Amino acid sequence: MKNILIIGAGGVGRVVAHKCAQVPEIFETITLASRTKSKCDQIASEIDRPIRTAAVNADDVAETVALIKECGAEMLLNVALPYQDLTLMEACLEAGIHYLDTANYEPKDEARFSYEYQWPYHERFKEKGLMALLGSGFDPGVTNVFCAHAVKHLFDEIHYVDILDCNAGDHGLPFATNFNPEINIREITANGRYWEAGEWKETQPLEVHRPYDFPVVGEKEIYLLYHEEMESLCRNLPGLKRIRFWMTFGASYINHLTVLQNVGMTSIEPIKVQGVEIAPIEFLKSVLPDPASLGPLTKGKTVIGNVIEGLKDGKKRKVYVYNVCDHEECYAEVKSQAISYTTGVPAMIGAKLMMKGDWLQPGVWNMEQLDPDPFMAGLNQHGLPWQVVELDPDSPPVY
Ligand code: NDP
Repeated sequence: MKNILIIGAGGVGRVVAHKCAQVPEIFETITLASRTKSKCDQIASEIDRPIRTAAVNADDVAETVALIKECGAEMLLNVALPYQDLTLMEACLEAGIHYLDTANYEPKDEARFSYEYQWPYHERFKEKGLMALLGSGFDPGVTNVFCAHAVKHLFDEIHYVDILDCNAGDHGLPFATNFNPEINIREITANGRYWEAGEWKETQPLEVHRPYDFPVVGEKEIYLLYHEEMESLCRNLPGLKRIRFWMTFGASYINHLTVLQNVGMTSIEPIKVQGVEIAPIEFLKSVLPDPASLGPLTKGKTVIGNVIEGLKDGKKRKVYVYNVCDHEECYAEVKSQAISYTTGVPAMIGAKLMMKGDWLQPGVWNMEQLDPDPFMAGLNQHGLPWQVVELDPDSPPVY
């Protein structure tokens, strides 16, 4: 395979296009398509290799199939929005090509993202000898592979996983989301949820929080959230007793979000204003800064990784596997901040492993179900180096 079609020309699409272009021996022909072709053209103009561009409505299966056929792509990398996952999977099945995404499907009219919409495609992909790789971003994505690495190399049994997503970057604006505002706010304003002893436990939105002392960036407030990788990891990690997900937010972000929520601006229920029907969150999205515009403004680092506890050779073990990424260095390389970078690089690595054949297997797969070794090597090679730090096994839990 040599020919890839990338759909979505937002913050993540920009990074994917730049990073695929850096690996010409794998990605010989690249087409970048999105709803707005001018955004693809802008990205293509930043890259010193020819990138083909096109306009496509990814909600339309027939239109997408026609584009796949026209550009001759052998795999589709979906970095549009989670709403497009199912139509793009249908288009891949119809055109007979492989599929990869970075976020699981979410119906537009219900703030409920889940793999239960995409897992049932397993047999259809398998029958056609095609692969769909789900969640090849950072979280989900790298955090799943960190777990697979721990299972393969560091532990005999894994009992507890805490995924810690820290963005210590500062863009200097009073309020902005660092990826698509609608998706981001829908995720954060939902109830918190974690998995323990075989069942899901629910919390109020952002109810559970505490300060956590991160490597490199120091103490930040972490908030317990529901996050999609837990849905597959709780099934695929044998012996797991508990998995939780935490994200950092600054005081100003929480204050703004609370006010917006209290006045109803985060609602996804459409209302009629002067004859026009619109969901308040969609209106809010249109007045908030475009995440892509944060690139040149953001300074500081992200620290994302997993604290994992379990047993090795009959003894308790606790490790912290994480990556540190610098917003300004990302911008210098690909004109994007670290949130888009840490998503786009793993998407490219996942696609590379599928195109090379290392990870190619028919069916629908989550990241932890594949051999972590080539992916972990790819992270070091393509700009997201990781480290494993041994923690005192008797140190207090994250919470
Ligand atoms: P943006 O909103 O910046 O970009 C989304 C892009 O998708 C835009 O270019 C938009 O086109 C395009 N798009 C939307 N609808 C359609 C459609 N119907 N047809 C064609 N193109 C469409 O989002 P991001 O780049 O920040 O995020 C991209 C994806 O990455 C999202 O699914 C997000 O959830 C995921 N993500 C995953 C993370 C992870 O770690 N796993 C972390 C961060 C993000 P246009 O501009 O023309 O409107």
